[in-house]
Amino acid sequence: MQLGETIILDGKATAAAVRADVRAATQRLIEGGGRPPGLAVVLVGDDPASQVYVRSKDRDATEAGFQARTIRLAADTPQGELLALIDELGEDAGVHGILVQLPLPAGFDATEVIERIPAHKDVDGLTSASVAALVMGRPGHRPCTPSGCLELLDRAGIGIEGRHMVIVGRSALVGKPLVQLALERNATVTICHSRTRNLADHCRRADVLVAAVGVPHLIQGDWIQPGAVVLDVGINRGEDGKLIGDVDFEAARGVAGWITPVPGGIGPMTRAMLLVNTLAAAAQAAGRSLEELGFQD
Ligand code: NDP
Repeated sequence: MQLGETIILDGKATAAAVRADVRAATQRLIEGGGRPPGLAVVLVGDDPASQVYVRSKDRDATEAGFQARTIRLAADTPQGELLALIDELGEDAGVHGILVQLPLPAGFDATEVIERIPAHKDVDGLTSASVAALVMGRPGHRPCTPSGCLELLDRAGIGIEGRHMVIVGRSALVGKPLVQLALERNATVTICHSRTRNLADHCRRADVLVAAVGVPHLIQGDWIQPGAVVLDVGINRGEDGKLIGDVDFEAARGVAGWITPVPGGIGPMTRAMLLVNTLAAAAQAAGRSLEELGFQD
């Protein structure tokens, strides 16, 4: 890398490589007598964005050689019926991963619904059992967005041990689990949020800066330490309707050493990690590990 040159971390291409590895490992699992990984996606209601997400998850899974099922329920389905469906999928030996697409329509108790998913099938890593496993460093499914961030760094050969990671955003979906995953890798972690004072100063001290906020272009070019790694998790609609991140990409270019674009950065990695989690669940059900199947996690 030359001074002033920013390397674009291509999440789209890296996610395609992850998917290809998942597909190959799936074949080995099946050849070894294992069942194909089964992913059940539950969509309640007809939120247009959720419909798009669910379709892509189903397509990704099918292309990887999984048995994918999308179960669509009406927005006025009683909570008890949704819970009974999850129980049924929990018992089904052909289903290794259960994902309930969020947000659920108004009136549902999302916490109760998510908690009903058995931990070994919780491929989104959102149940309290999965969170406890993460915090305690025990095996379990890790949430897809933070693990996608680390997978992207791994495959780009960027280590974080001993480096200072600053995460902006403390949601249960992204920021908080990323703290644990980064600590496991021996990074030094700072987490910022809406009440953080002097946010720009914290960002400037980051070797690895992760923006998971949901505010378009919050992170400006002069908030970035020259040569830093910048991961932009944010997905926002710009005034022209196009997708933009939490980082002012054009301003960051030329300052950052590495940066993820939006779209084409962390989004595709998140989708790919759902496949990895589901493959891991299917492998475990067959008494195999990802390593044995040739998948380097
Ligand atoms: P949440 O709304 O749950 O959390 C946002 C976080 O950002 C909160 O911790 C909030 O602080 C903090 N925050 C808000 N405004 C500011 C500010 N001005 N300065 C500093 N911190 C601020 O969002 P999510 O974590 O679910 O998502 C974040 C973004 O990532 C969104 O754009 C979302 O679309 C995107 N996303 C992308 C994914 C992908 O696959 N690429 C997957 C998941 C999310 P506080 O806690 O104090 O309120």
